[in-house]
Amino acid sequence: MLFWIIGFSLLGSIGAVAGAALFLFFPENIRKVLVPNLISYATGTLLGAAFLGLIPAGLKKAPAISVTSTILAGMVLFFLLEKIVLWRHSHENDYKDHGRAGPLILIGDAFHNFVDGVVIASAFLTSITLGISAALAVIAHEIPQEVGDFAILLDYGYDRMKAVILNGLSAATTLPGAVVAYFWLSNTYEMEPYILALSAASFIYIAMADLIPGLHRQVTFTSSLRQLVFLLVGIGTIAFFHFGI
Ligand SMILES: [Zn+2]
Repeated sequence: MLFWIIGFSLLGSIGAVAGAALFLFFPENIRKVLVPNLISYATGTLLGAAFLGLIPAGLKKAPAISVTSTILAGMVLFFLLEKIVLWRHSHENDYKDHGRAGPLILIGDAFHNFVDGVVIASAFLTSITLGISAALAVIAHEIPQEVGDFAILLDYGYDRMKAVILNGLSAATTLPGAVVAYFWLSNTYEMEPYILALSAASFIYIAMADLIPGLHRQVTFTSSLRQLVFLLVGIGTIAFFHFGI
């Protein structure tokens, strides 16, 4: 099990940075189409993983009201974390709004990726299916996230090499997050439904508060239709994992 968790944590962190670095080689006009599609897809996988995977799994192990209030508390917590810039998601379309805060991005990213690692571990400890669906949601949102981070770091004045290395280091916190959660949760089973609920809160928050506002900046009919299609494909991918449909 630890092998699965480490493998998918690496894919969701270093793998996503590598994927994002590849995106940088695409010409800008292609990237401008691909990145929003990926963000729409990621939104679908995050919401799908939260509502079809993590929350139902939590509800099997704890009373509904404790699970739902933990999700609610989690959303407030992530709101506060975002206020103090510990938690942030960006993508290329809106990087200019965040100013030139290179080092802050790396710190926020390191914290965020640590939490992604906790989510992957808690999902795998529940079931392999849940683990894979959560890991997919992490990978899907991390690639556009890292593309946005690269844009900010390059804009901040780092050269490509430095941006790749620093971004890789801050993304690598997914691994300690996953390993710590694995050993901790292996001994404290009663915490599992609450960690699943917080994981769901993290996914819902990223989708609704960080990704969707960026998507709304594209207002043409074709881009809206494309966003809807990719969002549904994202949900469909997760549904396929959970129900085999
Ligand atoms: Zn993430």
